[in-house]
Order: sequence, then C-alpha cells, then structure tokens
Amino acid sequence: MTNRTFTIIKPNAVGLGHTGEILEIIEKAGFRILALKMVCLSRSDTEKFYHVHKERPFFRTLNLFMTAGPIVVAVLEKENAVADFRTLIGATDPAKAAEGTIRKRFAESKTRNAIHASDSNENAAWEASFFFTDKEILETTYQLPVSPEEIDKD
Ligand code: GDP
Repeated sequence: MTNRTFTIIKPNAVGLGHTGEILEIIEKAGFRILALKMVCLSRSDTEKFYHVHKERPFFRTLNLFMTAGPIVVAVLEKENAVADFRTLIGATDPAKAAEGTIRKRFAESKTRNAIHASDSNENAAWEASFFFTDKEILETTYQLPVSPEEIDKD
C-alpha cells in the first residue's frame, strides 16, 4: 500500500541552489510529489513545527537556522514512504550519514543538515497539514483526456 511522507528542503540547501538536484533524487527514488511550495518560516512557526525539541540545547540554533531563508516543503507518496524516505536522506548527523544519502551529499552540519523527513505516518499527516490544506495535496495523476494524437494535432 502506498502512503505519504512530508519533507522540508532546508534553508542551506535552497540557498545554495540544490533544490532541483534534491527533487531529482527524490523523484528518481520513486516518490511522487503530491504537493510542493516554497515558504519562509517565522520564529513562532518554527517553535510550533519543532515543538518536541523546544527544551533541547540545540533548539535556539535550529530556530535561527530554519528562519534564515526560504524552505521548500513537499508531500510525497510511495510504498513504505516514511521508512524509505528516512533511508534516502540518511542520519541526522552528516558525519554518520551513509554514502549516497541526501544528507551525506548536501548537509553541512548537524543543524544545517539540508533536509527534513517525517518519522511516522502520524507525524507525516500532521506536518503536511501544517503547510498544506487538503485541497493542495493532489491525488490526481497525469492522464490525457483524449489520445496524444488529438492533443498534438494543432
Ligand atoms: P531528524 O529526524 O533526523 O531531522 O532529527 P530530529 O527530529 O531528532 O531533530 C530535528 C532537527 O534538529 C535535526 O534535523 C537537526 O537539524 C537538529 N538536531 C537534532 N539533533 C541535534 C543535535 O544533537 N545537535 C544539533 N546541533 N542539531 C540537532
């Protein structure tokens, strides 16, 4: 059964111009993009989104980093999406991330680690709803309503 996960391409990866490359890796790994947009987080958005980390020592710098520039948020679909996407991005600390993972390639440090991924189906649904309305998450697939010849005839 396919399910959904949620991702953030973080400010360093967006600012350094890696958005396209990261989306290419994601699509080539078999994830379908159901929703996608670029936004900026405020300090209070970041506090809400990362509320579970509020008391952690790294919370201040995480907040400073996440508000440092635009981010790209997306809802993704694939079989076993949550677990497979965690594998694709690699460990939180890039020094521990496996070869070939997105963090191994694009993360600069534990804080500036390029990408976020949901860690459960429940959190994926909550995180997606933090950024997108139900209507913005598109189930629709590409399907021509007539033959390709008909579309291309003019
Ligand atoms: P993730 O699921 O791999 O993103 O990790 P967590 O949910 O545990 O943490 C959220 C984010 O907080 C991580 O992606 C890092 O940017 C940051 N973070 C987590 N743990 C640490 C840490 O020990 N040190 C620092 N500096 N940042 C951390």
